[in-house]
Amino acid sequence: MSDTPAQAADQQPVDLDAHGAASTMAPGITCADCGRARTVADDYDYTPLQLVTGRALGWFNGDGEQMCGECLTATMRGERP
Ligand SMILES: [Zn+2]
Repeated sequence: MSDTPAQAADQQPVDLDAHGAASTMAPGITCADCGRARTVADDYDYTPLQLVTGRALGWFNGDGEQMCGECLTATMRGERP
C-alpha cells in the first residue's frame, strides 16, 4: 500500500507584518481636551442626528481641533467650563 503522508500544501499564510495593521484611521488624531486617541472603535464624526437618537456622540471637529465624544457630551451637558 502506498501511504503518502499529506503534505502541508494548505499552509496558512503567515502574516509577518501584523504590527501596525490596524492603522487604517487617520493618524495622530487625539482629543484636544482629554488627549485620548481616536480609535477604530469610535472612528466616526459627530452629527446632530446622534443627539436626536440618543446615541453616543462621535468626534467633533472644531477649528482644527478634535474633541472626543465623551468630552463633547460633557461640554454639552454643561459639566465643563
Ligand atoms: Zn476627550
